[in-house]
Amino acid sequence: AKSIGGGTWRFFAADMRPRASQTAQLESDLRGALSRQEFLLHYQPQIDLRSNRVVGAEALLRWQHPQHGLLAPDAFLGLAEETGLIVPINEWVLNEACRQGAAWRAEGLGDLRIAVNLSPIQFRREGVETLVREALRTSGMRPTSLELELTEGILLGYDKQIVTQMQSLRALGVTLSVDDFGTGYSSLSYIRSFPLHRLKIDRSFVQDLGSDPSALAIVRTIIDLGHILHLQVLAEGVEEESQLALLRSEGCDEVQGYYFSQPIPSEAFAVWLTQHGL
Ligand code: C2E
Ligand code: CA
Ligand code: CA
Ligand code: CA
Repeated sequence: AKSIGGGTWRFFAADMRPRASQTAQLESDLRGALSRQEFLLHYQPQIDLRSNRVVGAEALLRWQHPQHGLLAPDAFLGLAEETGLIVPINEWVLNEACRQGAAWRAEGLGDLRIAVNLSPIQFRREGVETLVREALRTSGMRPTSLELELTEGILLGYDKQIVTQMQSLRALGVTLSVDDFGTGYSSLSYIRSFPLHRLKIDRSFVQDLGSDPSALAIVRTIIDLGHILHLQVLAEGVEEESQLALLRSEGCDEVQGYYFSQPIPSEAFAVWLTQHGL
């Protein structure tokens, strides 16, 4: 159920109608989901390989749909972006993640860095800096504990406006990372022009680490590139011990993946954290 833009369903053949009306239904569900408080965040730990401690958590959006159950972002993010609903939804995500981060700190769970995914649409809007500042202010979250994950698409070329936007976010004290690094087409020469803290190696490379020599070469290259540019490097999608060992020996700074934990609800995450005390 994707890319059914404004009114296009009318031109579909009869046998396509159920699909289109399903999308229309999902869209109308999506419009009411915020006010019905159907969104929630799951958290996945991020582990520092030098200290072997949990240093952060990525906040990942979920939709508790009244009929379809718990939905992952793939099921509705496309629609949210097309309809522009992604803006208020992600505003909620930002506020909720900051609230949770500040609450965990108050509960003595340590000074976790919380990472929030920003959609390109949202990033390009003028108000993003105000939005982040307000979320920090109302939650009491420490700015240095908030990380914003940007997709490589934002960094397609050197754009003065994008750099200014990033600098104003950096001025708030938050850190910026590039998500899914290696899958897009960001020009390597531009990467150094951006005020970044971290590269996140896409999980497709991590998954092929043991089987595909070129995946190892790519991972090694990203780690070296990151370090030359004074960036931290985090590998996503670590599922196996062998992948972890390779990443460790290659000098990767941080890891995240099912090997440690799937993304889980906030209460479960707090329990996991105290139990593992990594
Ligand atoms: P992402 O930012 O690349 O997030 C990582 C995805 O990989 C998550 O999927 C996570 O559950 C999954 N993952 C983590 N570890 C492993 C692993 O070891 N193996 C495998 N196979 N998968 C792993 P999820 O939660 O379904 O999110 C999908 C995408 O939706 C995210 O990809 C992100 O691009 C987007 N997304 C999630 N939350 C938000 C949000 O609040 N705002 C926006 N704009 N996008 C979001
Ligand atoms: Ca991410
Ligand atoms: Ca990613
Ligand atoms: Ca992704």
